[in-house]
Amino acid sequence: MQKITDAIDFALTNGLIKYDASFKLTHAPFCLSPFGLTKEQVTSMEQLTPVFNELMMNVGQDNQFLKEHLSDAAGTDSFVRGLLDLHERVAFSHHLQISRNDFLMSLDQNGVLHPRQVEFNSIANSFIYLSRQVNLLHQHLTRELICEGNLSPNNPLDEMVDALGEIFDYYGVDDAHLLMVVQPKEQNLFDQRGIEYRLLESRGIRTLRMTLEEVAENGVLRDGHLILNDRTIALVYFRAGYTPNDYPGESAWKGRELIETSSAVKCPSVGMQLAGAKKIQQVLAKPGMVEQFISPQDAARVRETFVGMYELDETIDEKPLYQVASESPGQYVLKPQREGGGNNFYDNEMVSRLKSMSEQERKAYILMERIQSPAERSILVVDRVAEETDTVSEVGRYAACFHDGEKIRFNRDIGYLVRTKAADQNEGGVCAGYACLNSLCLS
Ligand code: ADP
Ligand code: MG
Repeated sequence: MQKITDAIDFALTNGLIKYDASFKLTHAPFCLSPFGLTKEQVTSMEQLTPVFNELMMNVGQDNQFLKEHLSDAAGTDSFVRGLLDLHERVAFSHHLQISRNDFLMSLDQNGVLHPRQVEFNSIANSFIYLSRQVNLLHQHLTRELICEGNLSPNNPLDEMVDALGEIFDYYGVDDAHLLMVVQPKEQNLFDQRGIEYRLLESRGIRTLRMTLEEVAENGVLRDGHLILNDRTIALVYFRAGYTPNDYPGESAWKGRELIETSSAVKCPSVGMQLAGAKKIQQVLAKPGMVEQFISPQDAARVRETFVGMYELDETIDEKPLYQVASESPGQYVLKPQREGGGNNFYDNEMVSRLKSMSEQERKAYILMERIQSPAERSILVVDRVAEETDTVSEVGRYAACFHDGEKIRFNRDIGYLVRTKAADQNEGGVCAGYACLNSLCLS
């Protein structure tokens, strides 16, 4: 028990914290047992990061492709419609990607673990700060001989702040600010604050935090620059704007449009946000699609991480996929065009959802093969309670990739996120209480 108390004290001392659902402060959930992969497995995932980012950058710039493959979903999903309409009104320009590509590990026929892509997150990626803090916790526990193994260091925070700094140099306006687009209430506030404080400390760059509605209220364009409260914004970093809840009315959409039409660098642009749609992921898995955007060699490496993804009405042996999935629900996940966790359907809920959908509604969803990861015993610490249980771990690779409107200027892996959850838990959200932050340990 002493080691649990020590770990919780370290977490609280070092800002490994969040608000719980009733906005009381607590430590972020963490795992005491770092997730083991081989050096080769980790290196090959790291090497794939720039390849995936080049692919997604190219997809995000292809207006015709996005429109063609999202317009059916936009028919019933007004949020997708809103983003697509906005995308059509704005010209392509420079944008920064701070992405996170998430993988679950599954065993091949030879018993070797391979990464399988869950999804590419192109907007509002969380845990850049908390991933570093949990890595500091594991470093501490290793020194205390509580944790064993060859811990893999992780500092996406400083790497991200370096990338943000490079954007300010590129934009070239003295005393320009970062705009962080936020939700009015945020359980994961400290993960955002950690970035803001480090940016000020290491680069002298200040941050304004605003909702989209506040941007609409306070923002103007001056010679193309986005001006908020008399400050020029060089870079807009979205930690909101990925869910319809962030657009309660016209004014929020106006705020988004003001940002998109300004010359500020967007992280991400609306095109990149759309490229991260689950429908686009499903289309890219079709034969010949990835190959339109990157070299055949790179496409082959990317494809090795794909599992089956389907339209609901496509058929296998003349049977539509939505029926196939209803008959073997354990093999599939049903996903709408949403981000942020808690939106997917599994098991019985999936079956009843599939039964109640119209053909038109089915176009706004995809079915994805369920990735089966082998379970491992680990100790999870949630709200001061430790429990040893069967777990699976999801590994995300963060990247920073900048396109100046003509070419990619930088594109690199900047670290990782590991989320470890109970093996019987479907969803993976940390703040929703499903998963625990973790580190990698190399074997
Ligand atoms: P969101 O955009 O809401 O984060 P995801 O597609 O990332 O949606 O799914 C949320 C979580 O559900 C993932 O973090 C993962 O734990 C689980 N999940 C998603 N897809 C699969 C899958 N194909 N197989 C197994 N688990 C999955
Ligand atoms: Mg996700």
